[in-house]
Amino acid sequence: MSQFLAPDLRPEDEEIERSLRPRRLDDFVGQERIKEQLQIALDAAKARGEALDHVLLAGPPGLGKTTLAQIVREELGVGMRTVAGPALEKKDIAAILTAIEPRDVLFVDEIHRLNRAAEEILYPALEDFRLDIIFGQGAAARALTIDLPPFTLVGATTRSGLLTTPLRDRFGMTFRLGYYEPAQLGTIVRRSARILGVEIADDAADEISLRSRGTPRIANRILRRVRDVAEVRHAGVITTRVAREALELLEVDVEGLERIDRELLEAVAHKFGGGPVGLSTLAVALGEEQDTIEDVYEPYLLQLGFLQRTPRGRVITELGRAHVGATRTDGSLF
Ligand code: ATP
Repeated sequence: MSQFLAPDLRPEDEEIERSLRPRRLDDFVGQERIKEQLQIALDAAKARGEALDHVLLAGPPGLGKTTLAQIVREELGVGMRTVAGPALEKKDIAAILTAIEPRDVLFVDEIHRLNRAAEEILYPALEDFRLDIIFGQGAAARALTIDLPPFTLVGATTRSGLLTTPLRDRFGMTFRLGYYEPAQLGTIVRRSARILGVEIADDAADEISLRSRGTPRIANRILRRVRDVAEVRHAGVITTRVAREALELLEVDVEGLERIDRELLEAVAHKFGGGPVGLSTLAVALGEEQDTIEDVYEPYLLQLGFLQRTPRGRVITELGRAHVGATRTDGSLF
């Protein structure tokens, strides 16, 4: 598993990550069009005293979906319940929604993994702020309808394509978060260094940004590991030399790839003759979950142009081969 995207943080890490989270839209770096549209929607909802329309946030992990959901809550000045889609049962949704306050936010992470019954109870809740509950079975079944206060569902997904059409249609706004530019990550790294109270040279922040695969969470996590190296081995200041030394230690290469990314490219290049190789075969070869490969590793490798998805499977490109120093099956280097 990627050491910088893994969700299983220690409590003290979670604490630090929370402290680095921007709280207002103005502090949220990048994603300008999303911020602009969201700001207008927030201002309008606040001016009318209404709940904000339901919002769907889509994009690879670590780009700020949870952060945006919390900003929405903060900007509206309301309460928020956070739940994970896969763990959510119909009865949980009923319990949460019957306790929800007007204009509150319900944040459902990984909403594409909601089970069917849970999803179906959401439809009338989202559309008409109504819960339809059926008691008993067969002839003895009785229906009960409960009116709900208007609320806002914020759904986050790494795979918007897996959402069913009825669910997708119930979102008033859908925002797709893209990878960040190095300059934007630089701003995030400098801001985080300020919050952490660590001195960082400008070009060291740039170096970290270039190797963070366009992802703020990775930039922040690398910064913290680089800070450790600076404190333990140097005088605590992050210079470019210190940053490079730490990145080498962490096995993060110049393109920001970790060992697992390189293993993936090498497997396609060497074990499977450059591809095409099916996702399930690749997952077995790497000892990783298919979902993790598809949601976490592949998007950036595709973005870099190192890998291609074809109907017959994954294929490594010439750029990808060059990066892992692999020769073509015909023996030539490029
Ligand atoms: P996941 O879906 O895996 O939970 P996510 O997209 O919800 O990921 P967040 O948890 O919101 O990602 O963001 C990860 C970290 O990156 C946050 O702690 C936050 O500090 C930082 N971050 C994300 N986006 C931004 C941004 N635009 N500006 C500044 N910091 C950001």
